Amino acid sequence: MSVQRFVVIGNGPAANRAADSLREKAPESKITILSKDPFRSYRPHLLPDFIAGALKEEDLYFRPHAYYKERDIILRLGQSVVNIDFSKRNAILEHKELVPFDGLIVATGGKPRIPEQFRLFEELMLTLKTPTDAKLWIEKLASTEAVLIVGGDLTSLSLTKALLKLGKHVRFILNEDAFWPRPLNDEVYRAVTERLEQRGVEVIHCRRIKRMTRLQENLLEMETDSQTIEAGVLGAFFGLVPDVRFLVKTGLDIDHGVLVNEFLKTRFTDVYAAGDCAQVYHPGLRDYWVSIGYENAAALGRIAALNLLGSRLEVRVEPESILEVGGVKVNTSWWTEF
Ligand SMILES: Cc1cc2nc3c(=O)[nH]c(=O)nc-3n(C[C@H](O)[C@H](O)[C@H](O)COP(=O)(O)OP(=O)(O)OC[C@H]3O[C@@H](n4cnc5c(N)ncnc54)[C@H](O)[C@@H]3O)c2cc1C
Repeated sequence: MSVQRFVVIGNGPAANRAADSLREKAPESKITILSKDPFRSYRPHLLPDFIAGALKEEDLYFRPHAYYKERDIILRLGQSVVNIDFSKRNAILEHKELVPFDGLIVATGGKPRIPEQFRLFEELMLTLKTPTDAKLWIEKLASTEAVLIVGGDLTSLSLTKALLKLGKHVRFILNEDAFWPRPLNDEVYRAVTERLEQRGVEVIHCRRIKRMTRLQENLLEMETDSQTIEAGVLGAFFGLVPDVRFLVKTGLDIDHGVLVNEFLKTRFTDVYAAGDCAQVYHPGLRDYWVSIGYENAAALGRIAALNLLGSRLEVRVEPESILEVGGVKVNTSWWTEF
């Protein structure tokens, strides 16, 4: 029998756990990781500390190249997959190279979520997902004192801590998406406002953002229904959504993420999806849920790999731990205290 060729798209926890599991159970196989990011695996929860200057860039990264070499896993960084040909079983890279596979795991993760009402202002807003984003924050913060955070979510709270450490003046507009994927009710709104204010954050209470204008390179103005605010940097924090846009044309079933059954299998033979990019069927709910969080991603990566190799492991999630947010069912392993 010829050597099986497995391709994993992504280099986050889902992809890495999948590649490790494939190597452990299929020692003879050829395993290739394709990742569009040019950098090694990083710890996203450390990005705010990096911005605060508490860590060096090198401290963000783990798994040196030697890790992959020792396990005979081919790690290809800076390789963006732009399409997948399932009939010929090739992943197609941006520079047109075809990477053939017998089995494929899609683990492309999530990207910062920008709600519809803010899409128009997207170019004025900074988000935080990768070390590249963090470096842009560092660059912008060097010439500004006032930062406006819109949205909320867990990342924004850790970043706020970092900004306060740097002595920045932080204004915060908490809106209904503030703790996405958790809903924000009045009680939580009051508690979070109190916490933020105790730490010296100015919480802006408003219902609507009417206008955003770039006045100068480092000066933005935002008009809300309650006041007009100026800030040097504007951060948008509305959680993460599956990063699957490039997959729409491939023939995979896509809703919010890549639709997979409870065994993480897509509609194509030997093609699985795992981590933040997957939308997983729940037989009890008869509906799909999106996964968010580091531990969830790694656990799903392992299941996808083992099932690709012939197991039949079902993803089990208690229905109570699946939240409905804005019409999307979400399960998250991520929750930290501010
Ligand atoms: C700032 C920040 C802090 C966080 N803190 C926590 C925390 O404290 N606890 C927690 O549980 N979770 C946290 N998270 C969420 C957690 O990082 C994610 O849930 C987790 O990384 C998802 O893992 P993943 O493997 O599914 O995808 P990701 O880690 O998002 O990795 C996706 C990979 O896919 C690659 N990729 C995407 N598209 C393509 C393409 N077309 N071609 C090739 N490669 C592609 C990317 O380069 C990347 O390597 C945080 C996230 C952020 C951004």
